[in-house]
Amino acid sequence: MNMTSSARVNSGCSDAPILKERGQNEVFCGLTGIIWLHRKMQDAFFLVVGSRTCAHLLQSAAGVMIFAEPRFGTAILEEKDLAGMADAQEELNSQVEKLLDRRPEIKQLFLVGSCPSEVIKLDLSRAAERLTLKYAPKVRVLSYSGSGIETTFTQGEDACLASMVNTLEKTETPDLILVGALPDIVEDQFLCILKELGIENVTTFPSKTKDSAPRVGENVKFVLCQPFLGDTREALQDRGAIHIAAPFPFGEEGTTLWLKAIANEYNVGLSLFEKVTEAPRNRAKKALEGISNKLSGKSVFFFPDSQLEIPLARFLVRECGMNALEVGSPYINKKIVMPDLEMLPNGPVISEGQDVDSQLDRCRKAKPDLTICGMGLANPLEAEGMATKWSIELVFSPVHGYEQAGDLAGLFYRPIKRRELLKV
Ligand code: SF4
Repeated sequence: MNMTSSARVNSGCSDAPILKERGQNEVFCGLTGIIWLHRKMQDAFFLVVGSRTCAHLLQSAAGVMIFAEPRFGTAILEEKDLAGMADAQEELNSQVEKLLDRRPEIKQLFLVGSCPSEVIKLDLSRAAERLTLKYAPKVRVLSYSGSGIETTFTQGEDACLASMVNTLEKTETPDLILVGALPDIVEDQFLCILKELGIENVTTFPSKTKDSAPRVGENVKFVLCQPFLGDTREALQDRGAIHIAAPFPFGEEGTTLWLKAIANEYNVGLSLFEKVTEAPRNRAKKALEGISNKLSGKSVFFFPDSQLEIPLARFLVRECGMNALEVGSPYINKKIVMPDLEMLPNGPVISEGQDVDSQLDRCRKAKPDLTICGMGLANPLEAEGMATKWSIELVFSPVHGYEQAGDLAGLFYRPIKRRELLKV
């Protein structure tokens, strides 16, 4: 089987000039990733070492979810700590002790750095080493940064996963790892298809528990489920694992090419591949037919937010007939998004980083039918009469894979429809 399809013959946007912008940006920080990671990793706890602002962010972002015992919290650094780092380490030790006494089910504890902990240069990696020694083998303590100084919102997941790679056990077997937190329903669908394709020893990263973590080694291959996992990709490669490059599994076409890239690596025959994917492909095509005619011809403008922008633009242009005007991404890692860039037809401005005022000017001038942006920009743009979609919803919702293709297109259609109704 060969990955080359007519879709990939021309090089699309792979050589398009990238408008690099460095200025004020409007994005959430990496702490946001805790909202979906804590649901996925059932024996983990995320302890943010931060200020009340960080606690408020987590509380409001997670506010819709009610848990008797949430698996995240904030060790508040008070002003006196910030002034002189007085007792910050001791305070952290005592908070960890109290937490682990009270919550014996915790097996992995993440100390998550924030702007305040970075400002006072609190060394969380050393604290994590010290606490691991104290609580081993029952609890493993790791650290990463979710600070807004260093990370945009999806980079928190990348930093978290990268922090775990060195703890993974070594293996000689040719396992496959699906890398990136997916909603359980999507993960199960992918695992089921891979099993039908005869691919064995498939694990997921992050795993639901510490004990079911994937193993890694030179015979292991991995495929990314999310495009924002650059540091994790490098860390896995440093452990010898091989990255299977592929377009991301959004829409019927993206999902098929993603699965095909995996199938090629494991020598799955074309007829088996066609047989296994035929029914879900047809379901995805049918679901998309119903909605793509409503999106077709409409224009879309992406502000940089999640790093999902390039694969999503490819989906919207190629499978829904939309016209991308600008595709902004906080960071463009061509080693990861090249297959999607190659497939994105020439035309849109591809921008990296942000200078929010000049980008807002470009957006207003372009008058797109739909703008994908962070929450902070959405309200003012809506007030100016523009239809917007919060990019954060695309990270929270099940959007990957065949069965979600129609829902994914629907997420983009809803704001356009609402705006059209308002006009009537
Ligand atoms: Fe704000 Fe920084 Fe805390 Fe994020 S880490 S909530 S940007 S103070």
